[in-house]
Amino acid sequence: MPRAKRAKQYRKVMSQYCMNFGFRTPYQVLVDSSILADACRFKMDFVKGLQQNLQAKDIKPLVTTCTMRKLYGSKGEPGVEDAITLGKTFERRRCGHTPETHAEPLPELECLSSCIDPKGSGKNAFHYCLGTNDINTRSYFRGVQGVPLLYISRSVLILEPMAPGSVAQRSRDERAKLRAEILKPGGKRKRDEDDEDDRHGEPIGGKPIKKAKGPNPLSVKKPRKKATDGLPSKPKAKPTTMEGAEGSTPAEGPKRKRKRKSKAKAAVSPNEAAGSAETGESHGVEEAVEA
Ligand SMILES: [Zn+2]
Repeated sequence: MPRAKRAKQYRKVMSQYCMNFGFRTPYQVLVDSSILADACRFKMDFVKGLQQNLQAKDIKPLVTTCTMRKLYGSKGEPGVEDAITLGKTFERRRCGHTPETHAEPLPELECLSSCIDPKGSGKNAFHYCLGTNDINTRSYFRGVQGVPLLYISRSVLILEPMAPGSVAQRSRDERAKLRAEILKPGGKRKRDEDDEDDRHGEPIGGKPIKKAKGPNPLSVKKPRKKATDGLPSKPKAKPTTMEGAEGSTPAEGPKRKRKRKSKAKAAVSPNEAAGSAETGESHGVEEAVEA
């Protein structure tokens, strides 16, 4: 998918999380050891990737105590050192599974579940995003409502589309909002105010009649059409005059003028000849005077 198209899709997804699940910047992004390891393996700018995917500069990557303990525990394995280095740059989510209470760190899925859905009610109580490249973890949190899931696929960070469960909850919420809006007394008041604005102070019974008055404007529009039907006759008259005025110079005029000229010349030519002779004589006199 082209980057621009993906960005647009991600923006839409995140705005849905904001509107329907109460997400706000800075987005808290829990990341587990699997995605830390892959981010290092692909030498990615992980934080920049998160910012781009979540369409926000203001993000807060978080690592649980258990994740860091797990990484420290597997020190020496390939890539773990880099993952620790990256993980240490992020804020620690104190999950409460300390060496004092838990000799071994909890399995990450279990730990993340206690952070994201502490009551086990299938809801993302604290609006966490989750970055994990563990298929089981991702699949599990698709079942928790409103968890934006991020993963790395072939060195590209991906934001999953909203899970079906979350989409269903979203549409349920929107339907409920719509119903509440309709039933709200405020809605009725607004309508009354609108009617008052329309200067109909009559009781509710009168409204349908007013609505019946509504169509009249439409019927007024039809007369306008008739008026336009009538207008063409006037415009036609005007255009003809206009055409006549305009046409006199380019098309019809010259012919007429020519005709008139021809007639005039034909009729007046003998007189003109005499006149010209007279003028010629007069000119000659003037010239003589001047000379
Ligand atoms: Zn933990």
